[in-house]
Amino acid sequence: MPTPHIYKTEALVVRHLNFGEADRILTVVTPQHGKLRAIAKGSRKVTSKLASAADLVTRTQFVLATGRELDVVTQAVVLERFDHLRESLWHATAAYTVAEALDRALQDREPHAALYALALDTLRRLDADATAWLADPTVANQAGPTARGWGTMRFFDLVLLDLLGYRPAFHQCVACENSLQPVEENGFNAELGGAICPNCSRHSQRHLPLLTLKVLRLVQTTTWEALPVMRLDARTRADVEGILQAILSLNLERSLKSWNLLPG
Ligand SMILES: [Zn+2]
Repeated sequence: MPTPHIYKTEALVVRHLNFGEADRILTVVTPQHGKLRAIAKGSRKVTSKLASAADLVTRTQFVLATGRELDVVTQAVVLERFDHLRESLWHATAAYTVAEALDRALQDREPHAALYALALDTLRRLDADATAWLADPTVANQAGPTARGWGTMRFFDLVLLDLLGYRPAFHQCVACENSLQPVEENGFNAELGGAICPNCSRHSQRHLPLLTLKVLRLVQTTTWEALPVMRLDARTRADVEGILQAILSLNLERSLKSWNLLPG
């Protein structure tokens, strides 16, 4: 069936690029049509109805006209703006990382409904967490992630890897395939795709401490509903993030730049 000339779709805006005097070229991810680029003419004018609909990390209902090179936005209605997460540097950066990961993980015009749903769920949870964070006067001056926000992002990382077919192994050694014992001396290798047992330590790229292993196993095997709020020390957080970053950057070609802008 040929693509219709005019079509309607909801989409998440994952990237935008200023173009000409007042236009923007949007990269959007849709549940049915995958990733596509469209031009939003005049969307940089403050008076434009397209301005807020073309913002990054906004869920918008678009009406698009197929063009020779780029589709053209003819109408746009904002469905969800995730306003609260924009007021917290950590939550906003996390949301941009979700958008960036989606952009990198998907090929043009290849739909991935489960990945789209995961991104939306993650943004909604980050927004809810930011709402609670902003309302709590005792944490108002604290930088960095909340325990719930941090767990939300690690859940996103692990499910993303699963959906892309890169599920890391944390229950068996990726070198000898023996069942992995819960000890302090395990290692990890991103290229081989998971944990390394003490007997295969020559293949290890980095240490995988027991608590880090337990956190990774727990998040990998839980659901959104059962995901616990984990209060972890900064070292363990950094360890878990480092291991997931190593696999993600290997499989999403380049490393996710947004994380490097975050305060530690
Ligand atoms: Zn082994």
